[in-house]
Amino acid sequence: MTAPFLPFALPEIGDEEIAEVVDTLRSGWVTTGPKARRFEADFTAFLGDHSLQSIAVNSATAGLHLALEAVGVGPGDEVITTTHTFTATAEVVRYLGADVKLVDIDPATLNIDPAAIEAAITPRTKCLIPVHYGGLAADMTAILGIARRHGLKVVEDAAHALPTTHRGQLVGTLGSDATVFSFYANKTITTGEGGMLVTRDPALAERAKVMRLHGMSRDAFDRFTATVPSWYYEIVAPGFKYNLTDIAAALGLHQLKRARGFQRRRVELAAAYREALAGLPLVLPPEPAAGDLHAWHLYAVRLADDAQIGRDAFIEALFAAGIGCSVHYIPLHLHPYWRDRYGLRAEQFPHSQHAYERTLSLPLYTRMGDADVHRVAEAARAALRA
Ligand SMILES: *Cc1c(COP(=O)(O)O)cnc(C)c1O
Repeated sequence: MTAPFLPFALPEIGDEEIAEVVDTLRSGWVTTGPKARRFEADFTAFLGDHSLQSIAVNSATAGLHLALEAVGVGPGDEVITTTHTFTATAEVVRYLGADVKLVDIDPATLNIDPAAIEAAITPRTKCLIPVHYGGLAADMTAILGIARRHGLKVVEDAAHALPTTHRGQLVGTLGSDATVFSFYANKTITTGEGGMLVTRDPALAERAKVMRLHGMSRDAFDRFTATVPSWYYEIVAPGFKYNLTDIAAALGLHQLKRARGFQRRRVELAAAYREALAGLPLVLPPEPAAGDLHAWHLYAVRLADDAQIGRDAFIEALFAAGIGCSVHYIPLHLHPYWRDRYGLRAEQFPHSQHAYERTLSLPLYTRMGDADVHRVAEAARAALRA
């Protein structure tokens, strides 16, 4: 008997999430309303800092767009980010008519290299977007220091980083202008589609809330629940349609309660991989600094230089053994849009290019058992012996 296919990612949705969604469906209020409000309040409580505001949105991409709009990114500006990311991190800059400056990574962590940021700053630079690759915090001490010295805004792409800490402090509370989390299906918690923009800046929060819903001065739920006739609203800007539905927030309320437990299970799975893969020609992902949390959204391994197999053949061998893998990321400098728009060459990004050619992500999610980790490790061992 062959084992069933082990997919690369699966969400863990429990009975409480399902009951909460059903309750929403029966309640008569299915779009943004009381549950989205509660999810925002719970999210701020989760981060443990009541000077923060949490603003629920229908994707992290939407949240990044709102954050950049609110910090004033526009035509003529440059925004620096990592080439080793998903296109959403950078595309939002183009939505606003600004330009993207891609830079290389630290080869050990695959996080943006602060020295490369510093070297890419010009008089047009407006904002930095670090990404916490795989759930390991970028060097935010260095990045916030650079931003302060050069008068730049910082918007963190924390799509992988719930919960992650940097020097003991949760990502979301580190002091950047805004931090954006993703609740896409394969992220550490999920609402199907969804995201959260977190900020300590009241003016930024106000602008993001207005732009989240058509540039309207009062949102639909305020008007619906008002005790006096409340048909009146004003449009103060050409906003977007980025609000999170209560159906999605219903999932988020219970996923958030489980986030700490999910993270502990991910730590166990990462530790099981570290042990089971020891001795193979693989460079395993770095551990966080002592005392810090790694969200372990990804478990990305790199083929050692002396491995007898290439990345593509390795993925095919694992697939033949019934195991799904992925690659994080095909760097932005290799995609036609980014390459051609900015005339990029792989030689400009040696660390990202090398990581791309040698790295793959193994399955890691809370519904996996230890036996699944051993199955992946055995398949890897067999493939690497070939
Ligand atoms: C998933 C992801 C996003 C986009 O998140 P959505 O919620 O799907 O919009 C952005 N950046 C990174 C690094 C991601 O992995």
